[in-house]
Amino acid sequence: MTVKEKQLFKKIIDEQIQELSAEIATIKKALYPERGEGPSDKVAHLNFKLDQSIHIQRHEEATKRLNRLKHAYLKIDTPEYGFCKECEEEISLERLRLMPESVYCVACMNELGL
Ligand SMILES: [Zn+2]
Repeated sequence: MTVKEKQLFKKIIDEQIQELSAEIATIKKALYPERGEGPSDKVAHLNFKLDQSIHIQRHEEATKRLNRLKHAYLKIDTPEYGFCKECEEEISLERLRLMPESVYCVACMNELGL
């Protein structure tokens, strides 16, 4: 990966971190409504509970991904970034563009069942 590409990926990761942080903030707001914004009756409360479990799951996934992105951001200047942890081949740039936090190539990820 060239220095220019690394700079580009740094930008991509940074943008995704911003996006994800904003998403997490939105989910948190939905999870912990302000006083007076909570469910008003029984049905609303039931729906609220249902939504809560979805929000909790989304929050968990988003937080995990955010951690991976932050980790990738710290690693981008190291020579390992962009190389598969398993086979040590270069991870395709298209894959990194979509998931810059990738540490495995597609083949290894499938093989490892990740
Ligand atoms: Zn691999």
